[in-house]
Amino acid sequence: MYTVSQISKITLEGREFFIKRDETIDPYLSGNKYRKLYILLQTPKNTFTKVISYGGTQSNAMLALAAICKSKKWEFVYYTKTISPIIKAQEYGNYYEALSLGMHIVELDNDLYKEYISGLRLNLDELTLLIDQGGADRRAKEGLEVLAEELRVQFKEEEFSNIKAIATPSGTGTTALYLALSLPEYTIYTIPCIGNVGYLKEQMQALHSIPKNLIILDPKKKYHFAKLYDEFFDIYEKLKESGVEFDLLYAPSMWLSLLENTRESVLYIHSGGLSGNRSMLERYKHKN
Ligand SMILES: *Cc1c(COP(=O)(O)O)cnc(C)c1O
Repeated sequence: MYTVSQISKITLEGREFFIKRDETIDPYLSGNKYRKLYILLQTPKNTFTKVISYGGTQSNAMLALAAICKSKKWEFVYYTKTISPIIKAQEYGNYYEALSLGMHIVELDNDLYKEYISGLRLNLDELTLLIDQGGADRRAKEGLEVLAEELRVQFKEEEFSNIKAIATPSGTGTTALYLALSLPEYTIYTIPCIGNVGYLKEQMQALHSIPKNLIILDPKKKYHFAKLYDEFFDIYEKLKESGVEFDLLYAPSMWLSLLENTRESVLYIHSGGLSGNRSMLERYKHKN
């Protein structure tokens, strides 16, 4: 089913950038979720009967897991905090799509959530797999090595031979970390989109020590995840005019920071997330 995703070239604010089009891989498993969960796709059906995970109700990782579990005929149980009536009523978006793919949702009282989640791993049987929030899992390494190998081959082509650095925004930091470990000969830029630099480092270090070629940029301003910012919308529009649509949660901060902090030739890994744009664009419309 999968063939190597292409590299496109765009011009943004007079600068040339390259884009690895991982968002085109699959409508549910787009971008880095395909890479991070690659090993699960390679896992024989009879290895598990059930996958459990937890986190936000609009999560891209949740949707990706729902799609994998459907294709493998694994039960998928997802734990989350109380879900807002607005999200429950929507007939689009990640929550709606994941339910249509057969996800079982368990809503937990906000007070009990943390304790309940930490208890999950204590009660696992061998046919049940627990994937931590956002797909922050050591098994992500394999899929990012596949991406690294693909890039190495593509970078041998003349038109991509001057690429010096690679950029990918972080939630859990799993993607940036394993990409940096798999491509030590390149600089990897990332930026925290959930929490600050310190929090991102902690999450990465829970998986592996941080290699020297991974540069964590600090956003100019404190952005809160999933909040609306005029400069985010502006850069989203500019990118769209240049020919590629990006997500409105992670990509804007990374692009703003790349424009400000880098001069060399950069390749941006498009991590998908476009399934969340409809609801984000609705919110921007109401704001303006
Ligand atoms: C999940 C996601 C990220 C963050 O990936 P991590 O590996 O958790 O850092 C970035 N961009 C998009 C579009 C995503 O869906």
